This record gives sequence, C-alpha cells and structure tokens, in this order.
Amino acid sequence: MTPEAPSSVPQRLEILGVPVDAVDMARAVAFADEAVRAESRPQSILAVNPEKVMSLAKDPWLAEFFRGGRLLIPDGIGVVWAAKLQHASLARVPGADLMQELCALAARRGYAIYLYGAKEEVSAAAAAHLQARHPSLRIAGRSNGYVPAERMGELVDAINRSGARILFVALGSPRQERWIAEHASRLQVSVIQGIGGTLDTLSGHVKRAPEAWQRMNLEWLYRLLSDPRRIRRQAALPVFAWRVLVQTLAHRVPAGVGPGPTDTLH
Ligand code: UDP
Repeated sequence: MTPEAPSSVPQRLEILGVPVDAVDMARAVAFADEAVRAESRPQSILAVNPEKVMSLAKDPWLAEFFRGGRLLIPDGIGVVWAAKLQHASLARVPGADLMQELCALAARRGYAIYLYGAKEEVSAAAAAHLQARHPSLRIAGRSNGYVPAERMGELVDAINRSGARILFVALGSPRQERWIAEHASRLQVSVIQGIGGTLDTLSGHVKRAPEAWQRMNLEWLYRLLSDPRRIRRQAALPVFAWRVLVQTLAHRVPAGVGPGPTDTLH
C-alpha cells in the first residue's frame, strides 16, 4: 500500500464554505482507477448537494470530515447552480451514476467491490441488479447496514479478506461518514464511496426519477412528490438557494464603489 493519494485531484471550489471538486464523470472515474492501480490507502469519495451543505453548516464534525474528503463530487444540481452564480463551472456528477460507472470500471479491470449498507433484502436485490447489469463484475462480498457495534471488527476483517478494492457505504448521512472516519484506517480498500440511499433505488425499493425528470434536473422535485415525508429534509433547499443568492449579491461590488488601489483593508 502506498500512503500517497492519486495525483489528479482537481480544482476545489467552495459553496457556502463547503468544498466541492470541479470534476466531471470521466475525471471522477479516473481518480478512482488511479487510486486502485496505486493500491493507495482508502480514498473517500463523498457527495456534495444542497442538503449536505445545509447539514454541514450545523455539524462542525461533518464539515471537518468533508474537508478531508479526497474527492467531493458535485452530486446535486443546486451546487452546480450555485457555482454558476459565482462564475465557476461545475459539471454534475450524481453519486448514483458514479457508482454505476465505478462498477463498470471494476468489471472492466477486474477490481472486486464490496457493498455495505441498507436492509438485508435491499442489499441482496441491489447486488443482483448490479451483477445483471455488469455481468463480469466481482462482488466480493456484501453486508446489510445493521451490523451491531460489537461485530464491526468482524465486518472490517471480512471486507479486507474479500480482497475488494472499492467499497460502497450506504448508511445514509452522516452515519456513513462517521463509519468511514472510524474505520478507514483499518480498511485495505483503495476507494470508499459514500452512496447514501442508492442501494434502495438500485433494488427498486425506492424509485429514482424517470430519465426525463433527471434530464430536466428535477430529481429533487420527483423525490419530494413521491415521498412527501421528505419535506422536512427538502426544506433545506430554499434556505440553501436563499443563502447562495445573498452571498453572491454581497460579493458583487458595484463598479467604482470597491476599495481603490491605495485602499488597504485591515
Ligand atoms: N441504513 C443502514 N443502517 C442504519 C441506518 C440506515 O444501512 O443503521 C440505510 C437505510 O437502510 C437506507 C440508507 O441507509 O438504505 C439511508 O438512506 P437515506 O436516503 O436516508 O440517505 P441519503 O441518501 O439521504 O444520505
């Protein structure tokens, strides 16, 4: 294992103080590929979206953990929009799509994967779905997300024994980040992607938005309409939009009003 991370870390932007990397799908996949080839220590790939940005504002531990994330993908359309307002260009890299691309990569290159998280039947169905979609994919093991704390050591050993190079952790946020923080140092995988509720959609237990909705960047609306209980979580979206607008306007100094060349700000 080399302690060093892959070199191709892209430009890091900040949206309301939360870092996010300017990668597109191809670069995100190349990042993971490089980490596996280099047999690097675990590199975490985490998703940044407006809900996450808002919860990081309330959770200093989580905010600090994200700062240490090796690849922070622009998962939600809201962060792409916020970057655009600040004249930065970001391509959207949905975490669920990246997971599929990493499985395709793993199938091509023969990297084994491990799935950890979600209910037993969801995990089993998601594994079957992935296997059908990527026939040569080696799923070295899987575990549901309800392993008791006293058996966590066994789980880590099982992941290491499986020879998996890429681990997908699907415990929801911030549970999955806490798990990664606690166990990464003992894991021998090279890539860990936090995938939230993705196994639920893969297994068909939760429906992902139809492609037309995805193309129109309306996945958030579809999710809200199909599960109105999410309203509390999605209430973060307008607050996010408002704060981004306020911050953008506050930084837009009208011509001739800003400090002149001789002004010094102390
Ligand atoms: N989950 C789990 N173990 C737990 C609690 C939750 O594996 O102790 C799983 C749960 O079954 C679901 C996912 O974590 O599959 C939660 O997904 P959610 O949509 O809440 O996460 P998000 O995508 O919003 O981060």
